[in-house]
Amino acid sequence: MKNPIYMDYNATCPARPAVIEAVSSAMATVGNPSSVHAQGRKARALVEEARVKVAALAGARARDVVFCSGGTEAANAVLRGAGAASLIISAIEHDSVRAAADVANVPVFILPVDESGVVSLSRLGELLADAPAPALVSVMYANNEMGAVQPIASIVELAKEHGAMVHSDAVQAAGKIPLDMAALGLDYMTLSAHKIGGPQGVGAVVLSPLAPLKALLVGGGQELGRRSGTENVAGVVGFGVAAIEALEHLADSESIEELRDSLEVQLRGHANDMVIVGGKAERLPNTSCIALPGVKGETQVMHFDLAGICVSSGSACSSGKVKSSHVLNAMGYAPEIAEASIRVSLGRETTETDIAAFVKAWKTLYDRTRGE
Ligand code: PLP
Repeated sequence: MKNPIYMDYNATCPARPAVIEAVSSAMATVGNPSSVHAQGRKARALVEEARVKVAALAGARARDVVFCSGGTEAANAVLRGAGAASLIISAIEHDSVRAAADVANVPVFILPVDESGVVSLSRLGELLADAPAPALVSVMYANNEMGAVQPIASIVELAKEHGAMVHSDAVQAAGKIPLDMAALGLDYMTLSAHKIGGPQGVGAVVLSPLAPLKALLVGGGQELGRRSGTENVAGVVGFGVAAIEALEHLADSESIEELRDSLEVQLRGHANDMVIVGGKAERLPNTSCIALPGVKGETQVMHFDLAGICVSSGSACSSGKVKSSHVLNAMGYAPEIAEASIRVSLGRETTETDIAAFVKAWKTLYDRTRGE
């Protein structure tokens, strides 16, 4: 059987060959980075080299990178460890931020988005005026389902006027658009290795030099007491290699965007009742959220799977149960659209042939459902 065509990069990005090589070589190195002997120092050096690389990706200092188990843990660490008296989170945050906010034991305010999926700055100003201080604003850099990029610089500016801290979940933005945490004045940024071609189960909290962080995990005091537990040396090494590769290949986003745009133009040319969700916003170059009214997202995903193409349903289905997407609901889409969307996310390995195969399969599905 032919290899499936992979168009689900926002779910996870294939591990880069250089990452696989570096991970396997790091696994062959014996040593706990906390041990003082020569082997321990070797492992420590690997971790610290990776820290420099991840810091470069984020635009931060190496000492402000705290390694952890992924984007989910990183978001939990920030929302529960920043010491905020209240949280203001956007309505389209990833479940890791939403669920962490729910258990943070402080008042949570939801920042709405417009029909393009972009947060309302005027509403943010009002919420900042009302929320108990110090507030932590958490707005993702770019959305995982439909790709809208958020006005982080303006959010930071507004938050600072009110003495609030700002976290941005940059899990999806990393490697797709440039990040510069220091220039933006962000207090916290969170990252995940597997979305940029690194290993799954590794991520980082990146802090500004003065940002507080009460450890979520306590124990041996690793990561300068900010996250206990023996570092995942091989995973962290793979993260570092993926970070450098992501930086080196940022310019590839242009050709990926051309492929994405060509896909959308071809679908639009065939059907005037399909919807590109968030299509009017500034979006991640690789992401397209496509709604085909009247056809459930899961049905569409199965159709593409049978055609040998991996895409995901726009509905949240992380635990196998499919529910209407909170992102599309927040953008004001009716259930007929919110439940009828799929997410196509491209990457460096996507080819024109892949796009042609997708378009062909999409048109087949469309014609069948419209009785043509
Ligand atoms: N944040 C966003 C925007 C994501 O898309 C994801 C993963 O889908 C996460 C956080 C969670 O990252 P991880 O899979 O590393 O826990």
